Amino acid sequence: MSTLVIEGLRASVAGREILTGVDLEVAAGEVHAVMGPNGSGKSTLAHVVAGRGGYDVLGGSVRLDGTELLGMPAWRRAEAGLFLAMQYPTEVPGVSLLDMLTESVCTPEGAAVAERMSEEAARIGFEEKFLERPVNVDLSGGERKRNEALQLGVLGPAFAVIDELDSGLDIDALRFVGARIEDATTHDGLGVLAITHSSRVFDHLRPDTVHVFAGGRIQQSGGPELADELEAEGYERWTGAVPQPDSDAGTTPFTDPFGDPFADLLT
Ligand code: ADP
Ligand code: MG
Repeated sequence: MSTLVIEGLRASVAGREILTGVDLEVAAGEVHAVMGPNGSGKSTLAHVVAGRGGYDVLGGSVRLDGTELLGMPAWRRAEAGLFLAMQYPTEVPGVSLLDMLTESVCTPEGAAVAERMSEEAARIGFEEKFLERPVNVDLSGGERKRNEALQLGVLGPAFAVIDELDSGLDIDALRFVGARIEDATTHDGLGVLAITHSSRVFDHLRPDTVHVFAGGRIQQSGGPELADELEAEGYERWTGAVPQPDSDAGTTPFTDPFGDPFADLLT
């Protein structure tokens, strides 16, 4: 059975340590929720696991079925079975979704990719016209999220890190996309690390384990009831107890030129 094991993961960005020792183990078919307040390092965790550049890994390991992923380029991690559904999916002008997925599948079944894309699009209510258009260009936030789910459905990875699935999705879209991913966990043994600041997504994608993430590491783990506690009490207990990275005081505020200008409203 496949497992994704994260041990003692520490990483910094722009000279500041954001991940301070993350330990997590996700088995095939399981959904692990990582819940934490804004700016606690959840997206940093997603990016470091997936292999996005710009982060310094200071220690620890990320193993998929025993294979060390740290040090591999992002595409090799994808080839090993890892998928990242981004919080703010990137536009790729000039490359159609069909071309991107055909290249990614890269096997004799490549010819059937268009057919698989149509099936997946129908399942999550994604308009067919987007399949031949450049990836995410001029798509709304919700359409981009559906696009991520479509890619996950077609590629069929072993593990998916899903960063803030519900941001930008309306109620119906969240139901379709959540149900699609839940189905992959039940029928295809997909393991999921569902990173989120709110439990809205859990109506459709049901977590087996919930982890509280604050101060750059897991502070507590429990069953789904922990998400209800967090919803009722907020994160104050952890953010109060744990020294936070020195907010942005004394440093230049970071603005991601590729980020969503409304990020603060969504995370
Ligand atoms: P979350 O997803 O939990 O809201 P992030 O992982 O996006 O948090 O960010 C954690 C912290 O790291 C924030 O204080 C953020 O401003 C900072 N940060 C993230 N990326 C960068 C970067 N490229 N340069 C500088 N600071 C960054
Ligand atoms: Mg985030």
